[in-house]
Amino acid sequence: MSVRVRFAPSPTGFLHVGNVRTALFNWFFARKNRGSLVVRIEDTDAERSERRYEDQLLEDLRWLGIEWDEGVDKGGDVGPYRHTERFPLYRDRVEQLLGEGRAYHCFCSQEQLEADRKKQLAEGQSIRYVGRCRDLDPKEARDCLDEGRPASVRLRVRPGSVSFQDLVFGLIEVDTDNVGDFILLRSDGSAQYNLACVVDDSMMGITHVIRGEGHISNTPRQILIFEGLGLQVPEFAHLSTILGPDGAKLSKRHGATSLAEFRQLGYLPEAVVNYLALLGWAPPEDGNEILSPEKIVSAFDLKSVNVSPATFDLKKFNWVNRSHLKECPLPRLLTLAEPFLEKAGLVGTDPTLDLQGWTE
Ligand code: GLU
Repeated sequence: MSVRVRFAPSPTGFLHVGNVRTALFNWFFARKNRGSLVVRIEDTDAERSERRYEDQLLEDLRWLGIEWDEGVDKGGDVGPYRHTERFPLYRDRVEQLLGEGRAYHCFCSQEQLEADRKKQLAEGQSIRYVGRCRDLDPKEARDCLDEGRPASVRLRVRPGSVSFQDLVFGLIEVDTDNVGDFILLRSDGSAQYNLACVVDDSMMGITHVIRGEGHISNTPRQILIFEGLGLQVPEFAHLSTILGPDGAKLSKRHGATSLAEFRQLGYLPEAVVNYLALLGWAPPEDGNEILSPEKIVSAFDLKSVNVSPATFDLKKFNWVNRSHLKECPLPRLLTLAEPFLEKAGLVGTDPTLDLQGWTE
C-alpha cells in the first residue's frame, strides 16, 4: 500500500513554525517513501477560520518549496479538501453510528453541562460527559427531536482502554473512563473536529498521521470513531512541541514565530527548511548539519525523530541561514536582496555601490 500523508492546517492565523515543521516532516516522509502529500483545510471552527489565512498559508508552503499532490488548490480524486465542503459526508457517517446504536442524541443544555463540569472540578474528578442522555428511551428521544429540541450527537464510548503504538512516542494507552461520551455533531448540525478528521483521513486513504504532540489527546477519541465506523486505523506519529530558549512553549513573546515574519526578515526558504528539519530530527552522523531539501529527504526517517521537545535557537537558525546565503549564487542573492536594499534606501542612491564582492 503506498504511503499517503496529509498536512491539515486550520486557517485561523498565520502559519506558526510548529505547523511549518509538521508540513515539512509530512513532505519529507511522503517523498522519501514515494508517497503522496495531501493539503487539507480544517475550517470547522467557523468563527476563527478566514479565507485570507488559507491563501497565505498555501503561499507560504509554495515559498518553502513544499510540493503537494492533492489539495484545495489542486483538486484530486478524493476531494473536496476543505472541511466545510464535506459536512454531508460527516452527517452520513453519524447516521450510520446512530442506526447501529453506537451514537446517541444528547439534549443537555449548556447550563446543565456547565454545572456538571463545575461539580466534577470541585470533586477533583476528570472532566467528561456524565451520560445523562446515554440511556434515554428511543421513543422519548424521538419525541424530543420531533418537538424540535436542539440535540447534539455523542459517541457511545465503549468501556476498556484504547492503545496505539505511536511511531515517535511509543505505546500510548488511555482508559476510556477518562474520555467519556464526546460530541461528534454539534446541535447546529456542524461536525466536531475529531469526527471530520477521522472521516477525511479514512476517505482520503491516509496511511500515516504525522502531526503535533498537542493532538495526542485527540488520538484515542479518533481511534474510537475509526472503530465505531469499522474503518482501518492509520499509523500515528506525533512531533514534540517546539520550545523557546526559556523552556516555555514557543510563542509570540519569544519574538518572530510565524513563517510570514521570517520571510519578511529575509531568511532563505532552504534555510528555514534546513533549520526546522533539525528541530526534533537527528540527521545521520556525518557531522554536517547544513543540508539541502534533497539531502534531508533522502536521509529522513521517523525513527530518528526525537521524543524530547526541541528548542528553537535563533543563533543556530541564523548560522544555518548564513551558511545557505554563502552558497547562494550572486544573481539570485541580488534579486532576493533588492527589496531589502530598496527599503533601506540603498538602491539607486549610490551608483558606486559595488555588490560584486559581497558575499555575507
Ligand atoms: N487542524 C489541526 C491543526 O491545525 C491539525 C489536525 C491534524 O493534523 O489532525 O492543529
